[in-house]
Amino acid sequence: MSNSGWNFDNSYARLPQAFFTDTNPAPVASPNLVILNGHLASALGLNPKALQGEEAVAVFAGNKIPEGAAPLAQAYAGHQFGYFTMLGDGRAVLLGEQITPEGKRYDIQLKGSGRTPFSRGGDGRAALGPMLREYIISEAMHALGIPTTRSLAVVTTGDAIYRETELPGAILTRVASSHIRVGTFQYAAGKGNVDELRILADYTIKRHYPEVTADTDNNKYLSFLKEVIKRQASLIAKWQLVGFIHGVMNTDNMTISGETIDYGPCAFMDTYDPATVFSSIDREGRYAYGNQPFIGGWNLARFAESLLPLLHENEEEAVKLAQEAISEYDGLYRQNWLAGMRAKLGLINEEAEDESLAEDLLSLMQKHRADYTNTFRALTLGQLEGAELFKAPGFSEWQKRWQERLGRQQEATAESQQLMRNSNPAVIPRNHRVEEALDAAVSQSDFSVMMKLLSALSNPYAYTPEQEEYCTIPAAANRPYRTYCGT
Ligand code: AMP
Ligand code: MG
Ligand code: MG
Repeated sequence: MSNSGWNFDNSYARLPQAFFTDTNPAPVASPNLVILNGHLASALGLNPKALQGEEAVAVFAGNKIPEGAAPLAQAYAGHQFGYFTMLGDGRAVLLGEQITPEGKRYDIQLKGSGRTPFSRGGDGRAALGPMLREYIISEAMHALGIPTTRSLAVVTTGDAIYRETELPGAILTRVASSHIRVGTFQYAAGKGNVDELRILADYTIKRHYPEVTADTDNNKYLSFLKEVIKRQASLIAKWQLVGFIHGVMNTDNMTISGETIDYGPCAFMDTYDPATVFSSIDREGRYAYGNQPFIGGWNLARFAESLLPLLHENEEEAVKLAQEAISEYDGLYRQNWLAGMRAKLGLINEEAEDESLAEDLLSLMQKHRADYTNTFRALTLGQLEGAELFKAPGFSEWQKRWQERLGRQQEATAESQQLMRNSNPAVIPRNHRVEEALDAAVSQSDFSVMMKLLSALSNPYAYTPEQEEYCTIPAAANRPYRTYCGT
């Protein structure tokens, strides 16, 4: 174990050669640490103080390989906007898996670390703004209680990168339960080597679904498929409940662990509208807010297809099993979403009309262009003023129904209010505040705006007075907001 606390094991590197290519990060000119996640470092068994030293920063920059690491670029495939492509880590390397003092295993990946055999036409690099953006939003998601990859550090490289203009280069150190994707399975299936596909499935089961074993289940690959469907149904419901729009739900950007991954064009919705799209390249709205649950099911169907050779030796039987499993997804998603909506409305018990109560509120919000987060925040605080929605005639009727519904549960009002506070974030990383923080950091090297924002986002359910300034919605002139991939 090093002074920094690195304690690598590299199980992925022991998979068949087809799954990766040994690749070192490409050295950079002059690394400078701009942000380190001290809490996460400690949780990983790392020493936050030591990580600020020159040698440790050289690791985050890819200039030094820490002891025990075995850097590699992962091979994968994926449906990008519906079209199948062979891909792989084009601008990232996996250093290895950090084993924590509790014996947990986390991938440590450098993103923006230079070209790999999978880079195609790309430069393998990333710009400072987007890497800080991933840091902010992924850490906000974690604080919101949503499974996600985490951000350990961002370093600037001292090298310029070229997009439409010259930008400062940066590298993000990303932490994940693993980087195994739906696309990793599509890659294995696409190669047509069933033995390798089985090795990948066994490896992934052991790593993420150890409860799925051959002893207890007569078809462990079917159980595995069903468990992945469950985790993704839960994850995507959580996105919907906070108004998170992933923006690029290609199958290579969907993890098997059930963690959110790839914070490129993602953004949080302000005004409630299912058609909301922020990504500049998503012209048809494939990955619009309201379409995310459907796309989740579509991606899982691609996952199920890639598992077919393992599900049954008879292809027709295999397809039948896969279809049965996939047909559960819609109901599972809906259950998760409804449970979350009940909590957002302070409902502890269940009534058949709860779904329409929630849906009717959303329709009113859409009609009156209400802010998604602030509407639930106002309901939580019982402060129903200001917004157009609260003056609308339909709203007072809805409110009456809601109050009557709350009155029909045994639990104390205080309990119901606490549930609402725990379920409705007071703050989210609103686009205009994220942009403001990035602008100060990138253009003026002033990181204080970002640090203050990160602090507000670290406890989104706290409802503290300091958070109030982050609840203001953007000025109309700030819209429409646009996000970009691969920057
Ligand atoms: P994404 O849209 O972020 O999921 O990226 C899709 C693919 O493009 C992945 O294989 C990435 O590794 C690759 N990629 C994105 N940006 C770059 C870049 N600047 N250089 C090389 N590959 C890239
Ligand atoms: Mg990606
Ligand atoms: Mg990306």
